[in-house]
Amino acid sequence: MGELKVFEHMQKHHYEQVVHFYDQYTGLKGITVIHDTTLGPALGGTRIWNYASEEDALVDCLRLARGMTYKAAASGLNLGGGKTVLIGDAAAVKSEAYFRALGRYVQSLNGRYITAEDVNTSTKDMGYVAMETDHVVGLEGKSGNPSPITGLGVFYGVKAGLQRKYGNADIENYSFAVQGAGQTGYYLIGYLLEAGAKKIYFTEISQKHIDRMKAEHPKVAFVAPEDIYSQEVDVFSPCALGGSLNSDTIPQIKAPIIAGSANNVLLDEDLHGRMIMDRGIIYCPDFVINAGGLINVYHELQGYNKDRAISDTAKIYDRLLEILAIADKEGVPSQQAAKIFAQQRIETIKNVRSNYISR
Ligand code: NAD
Repeated sequence: MGELKVFEHMQKHHYEQVVHFYDQYTGLKGITVIHDTTLGPALGGTRIWNYASEEDALVDCLRLARGMTYKAAASGLNLGGGKTVLIGDAAAVKSEAYFRALGRYVQSLNGRYITAEDVNTSTKDMGYVAMETDHVVGLEGKSGNPSPITGLGVFYGVKAGLQRKYGNADIENYSFAVQGAGQTGYYLIGYLLEAGAKKIYFTEISQKHIDRMKAEHPKVAFVAPEDIYSQEVDVFSPCALGGSLNSDTIPQIKAPIIAGSANNVLLDEDLHGRMIMDRGIIYCPDFVINAGGLINVYHELQGYNKDRAISDTAKIYDRLLEILAIADKEGVPSQQAAKIFAQQRIETIKNVRSNYISR
């Protein structure tokens, strides 16, 4: 992106607010971006990263905050999109005082932004943040580890993909290749097994996770990382890192459906989204089907109720079918259709709220 012209960028992509903050005493140095609060307060985690430059940090924060707007809107939540990035080496900067200083900045935004854990921050760190602000979710003893419910949301996404492709979503008829059996991949495999999956292949680079799968589910077959794409299965499920769908890997994929948890899994959203569509593969957009964790923490704001969080996560199934229908109707890649769907919801709700009522 050449030199970043912040106001031009904000105008073009409808950002509301960019906040820089620096705490003299703890060295806390960060940026909070609030993208869009039409639907509700902007929610997005706090990430600590040793960015090469301040501009890199800002660009990352802008991108991630906007992604959260789409994710929340496409998930039917009354939330906007935001994000915080803290610049530094996580191992060196973290302390109680550091996170309490962050909490005070979050509080100063008066509820326009709600934070949570993200890369290099934990529920324990958020406990310190919560000492200084009411606007933090994902706390210990509340909604808990998001990964099982994220895995469950992906499971419903997989089912919607199958329904769209075959007109039948009975898991026992189908086979699966799962890339990454860490947190979310591990739970997804569990749900697929429970539903009677015909065959599951998985790959991993962590010996610990390979051993866990072999011990707990010996029928799930291990394949080498480079062989996972070319498995003759119904669903390829990327649950490892971003960028794994690219010009090298997409031509190898034999599955007619792609549905996994990994964020930003398309290396180049436009190029690779279209490449997948042109190959006749159904792509279940990452931010739509991996939203279970967000839906789960959202319920903390309502007074946490696990059953309600689970039933809202199951709605990913119907939502994805709607999005895939938009993609067909408009002749666009499904990732783009998901953004159209999210934007339509934002516009519709904005209009619903346009009349005056006394409260
Ligand atoms: P994780 O680190 O627990 O699991 C990822 C696994 O992938 C690891 O075990 C790692 O060893 C493995 N892996 C990495 N590269 C690999 C490769 N080339 N081949 C095979 N295996 C490889 O992470 P996670 O929490 O399961 O998250 C996975 C993805 O889902 C990430 O992109 C994350 O951002 C996204 N996501 C997670 C959640 C959540 O609730 N945990 C929510 C939304 C999105």
